[in-house]
Amino acid sequence: MLFEYRVVHSDRKTIAIQVDEDCNIIVKVPSYAKREDVDAFVLKKKPWLEKAVKKQMQRKANRKEYTDEQIKEMRKRAKELIPQRVEYYSRIMGVKPAYVKINSAKKRHGSCSPKNGLNFSLFLMDKDPRFVDYVVVHELAHIKHHNHSKAFYDFVARFMPDYKEISKM
Ligand SMILES: [Zn+2]
Repeated sequence: MLFEYRVVHSDRKTIAIQVDEDCNIIVKVPSYAKREDVDAFVLKKKPWLEKAVKKQMQRKANRKEYTDEQIKEMRKRAKELIPQRVEYYSRIMGVKPAYVKINSAKKRHGSCSPKNGLNFSLFLMDKDPRFVDYVVVHELAHIKHHNHSKAFYDFVARFMPDYKEISKM
């Protein structure tokens, strides 16, 4: 075979291929699928797979790895900076969080709990300061609107009119 891949049997009816974050090829197949059929399917998908693996390898190369020391440093900075920014915006927005916590979430910059506790990722310290402020305003706005409705974004825009641009940073 040209590709090493992992076959996962499940009660699905069709074959599906995916390339995971670490560039592993995973083929999900119906429980009754025969190995030769799966091989034939993968072979047919070769051009697509080559592209998908290449893309994922590129993404993996771009993904930044941090040392323990860097993470420690970012956590320290986040613990100093983020509560200050939250306090600043909380005053002008008229909303008060139950607490502010710093976590090490990699895919989520911030979140607001149902009880209005705010969580922010220490990895925000690697972003543009304006983006950090956007995440702060976004999560604070969730205290008023626990959704992403138009009212929510209107509220965000009142305190950060160019939030659309900034959120793409
Ligand atoms: Zn949100």
